[in-house]
Amino acid sequence: MINTTEIEHIKCLIIGSGPAGYTAAIYAARADLSPVIYTGIVPGGQLTQTTDVDNFPGYPQGITGPIMMEDLKAQAERFGTQVRFGYATEVQFSTDNSVHKVQIDGSKWVTADTVIIATGATAKWLGLPSEEKYNGFGVSACAVCDGFFFKGQDVAIVGAGDTAAEEATYLAKLCRKVYMLVRRDEFRASKAMIHRVQNTANIEVLYNTQTEEILGNEQGVNAVRIKNNITQAESVLDVTGFFVAIGHKPNTELFQNVLDMDETGYLLTKADSTATNIAGVFACGDVQDHVYRQAITAAGTGCMAALEAERYLASRAD
Ligand code: NDP
Repeated sequence: MINTTEIEHIKCLIIGSGPAGYTAAIYAARADLSPVIYTGIVPGGQLTQTTDVDNFPGYPQGITGPIMMEDLKAQAERFGTQVRFGYATEVQFSTDNSVHKVQIDGSKWVTADTVIIATGATAKWLGLPSEEKYNGFGVSACAVCDGFFFKGQDVAIVGAGDTAAEEATYLAKLCRKVYMLVRRDEFRASKAMIHRVQNTANIEVLYNTQTEEILGNEQGVNAVRIKNNITQAESVLDVTGFFVAIGHKPNTELFQNVLDMDETGYLLTKADSTATNIAGVFACGDVQDHVYRQAITAAGTGCMAALEAERYLASRAD
């Protein structure tokens, strides 16, 4: 039992600091909801691990992900949002219209009238033992974070979506050669991204190719064993870096058996709304969107969540 008399009470608690969380904060702060954001382990979210964002309206020359997130943070703070480093470790959501309780960093509890969940999604891994063994020693799920360490070297990247295409072209600027390992005979990425890959001389795309094992020694990765899944022929690529870019999974472990979610873990929200199955708890951004997954759509649902939180509080005050 938590003693709620001595713990901090927050009108609008926002969990997560990507475009959804910060946009919710901007709207909530301007509506006098005194929002508090707990940033999570990666302040700024997935966009801090991307390069150029060319499709967010308002930046005609494009913007880097990290700078865009700093801009969003500054805008949220300008209206009084408290941005705190920390992550939610347990939730006790109320079903009887009283306050919601959220534990921060495994120790401190806060109570909140409304909670906006904007915890986003994180990178998926192949699940190979060798991938885990060499993670941080040549294996990475973030080309932008780690590409620099492979300057002038040969690397491989697995995946065929927009992320893989974007990261492959990023790596191609730094590395001597980039092998792109595509498991089918075609890309999933958008046409524009495919063209970018195809127009980059030092990217070699290997179709119908799956990763069997990442090889290395105490110095880290030195090769990858691959298999053509049509011919079953195996071969070895000499690479010192192995990047994984095969999609993401929603960060919803915390809400299991608490909030309604689909079979892949994305939070379910009511139609045309960010409302979850618990009154006063809203979900926005990639944590509830497996369809669009864009910064601009995340920002849009962040705005919706704050407006709905405001209306929920107003309806309770009536
Ligand atoms: P996606 O889910 O779109 O693509 C994942 C890719 O990884 C697919 O090609 C898939 O192959 C492949 N894959 C999955 N599992 C494995 C495996 N075990 N082995 C080998 N390959 C595997 O994820 P993304 O992260 O690329 O993109 C997510 C969303 O974000 C998309 O909507 C995308 O458009 C968007 N995005 C937009 C960007 C931009 O506009 N600048 C940049 C990055 C992402 P298969 O095709 O065979 O299923």
